[in-house]
Amino acid sequence: MKTDRSRAWFERAIDVIPGGVNSPVRAFKSVGGSPVFVKSARGARIIDEDDNEYVDFLGSWGPLLFGHGDEEVMAAVRDALLRGTTYGLPTAGEVELAEQVRTMMPWCEMLRLVCSGTEACMSAIRLARAATGRDKILKFSGCYHGHSDSLLADAGSGIATLGIPGTPGVTAAAAKDTLTLPYNDAEAVRELFARSGREIAAIIVEPVAGNMGVVLPRPGFLETLREVTTAHDALLIFDEVISGFRLSSGGAAKRFGIAPDLVTLGKILGGGFPLGGYGGRKDLMNRIAPAGPVYQAGTLAGNPIAVAAGRVMLRKIAEIGVLEGLEAKASAFFDRIERLLCDRGETKARLNRIGSMATLFFTHLDVKDYAEAKTSDTERFGRFHRSMRERGYLLPPSQFEAFFISVAHSEADLAGFLKALSESL
Ligand code: PLP
Repeated sequence: MKTDRSRAWFERAIDVIPGGVNSPVRAFKSVGGSPVFVKSARGARIIDEDDNEYVDFLGSWGPLLFGHGDEEVMAAVRDALLRGTTYGLPTAGEVELAEQVRTMMPWCEMLRLVCSGTEACMSAIRLARAATGRDKILKFSGCYHGHSDSLLADAGSGIATLGIPGTPGVTAAAAKDTLTLPYNDAEAVRELFARSGREIAAIIVEPVAGNMGVVLPRPGFLETLREVTTAHDALLIFDEVISGFRLSSGGAAKRFGIAPDLVTLGKILGGGFPLGGYGGRKDLMNRIAPAGPVYQAGTLAGNPIAVAAGRVMLRKIAEIGVLEGLEAKASAFFDRIERLLCDRGETKARLNRIGSMATLFFTHLDVKDYAEAKTSDTERFGRFHRSMRERGYLLPPSQFEAFFISVAHSEADLAGFLKALSESL
């Protein structure tokens, strides 16, 4: 496989962009090889600057439920573009998008649009602190809620991938009100709340973790979070930036039957454009300026192009059978991966899977928290990643991320992946 042009672009990039990339994991540092510089993409396929074609299982880290360049999304975007790019004034589309979200997630009575998942989580935390008059928040090791100061403690995603122990620039003051516990440890949550529940404004959690690799909530974990927050007048924030509109039309909350007080959204919400959102109960959301005193704003918030793309995404996802069809395809595919691992007598490779997202961990453990995720053989993951890439299958360049199946993946794409997998293990 030729990578000369991608390499040349990376060398130029390093001179003008820190680390050559605009988001750390894109540098492929933990898997080796030069980063893929993309020229174009359509459906399930990406073409790089060297004209290599890959079947894409990265899916831009989650937004592309229908694959690249979905025709209906593109048509809506073209139409929106002809009317303008940004107005800094409200549009009908924003109202309709908020209504669509409320129909799909009835606990999201009101929604405020922002430009990224980071902003959504940061703003939800500010609101939770304002609403409760408390400072502390609880998050779980290995969960990632964007890169705002108070949420970087023990975070997953790029922090996990690059093995960064802490982040210079986050002050002790910003970090001191962030408490962390192991994911899935319901007992530790109960003990913490019994001790200091009245100081905690909110629990923020990925209801299905995607940023330490896919890790499912054990039965009772999310229920415990709901129970202790209610009992102590704290808020429960579900970060559904990945899981929202993927794990069901109403995200993980609907799938597990637990309504949070606030939800944070991104990725699919913007249909491939920069859009995030946070929402929840009216009495909470009406505290946001200008309805209330909690300030949060954005020049490009609710951008009409992103909103147009998001509205089509949600409309398509709400159609009966769309998510069910995707899940059935993904589930059969994941079954085949597991059978392959079993037939090969693999004792050190486990597939964590749910819906249309999964992670292949190279460990003997059934991963249920960050400490177990970190027992993975990341060297082996790197070799595996490079081998899959050689064969034309692009996975997220990190052991600690999810790969995604999209509506655009054909049976031939999935069969090809399985063959490449059997050659790459
Ligand atoms: N929350 C979760 C669960 C995420 O996976 C991410 C990004 O991967 C974020 C928040 C931050 O979103 P963004 O990268 O749009 O700032």
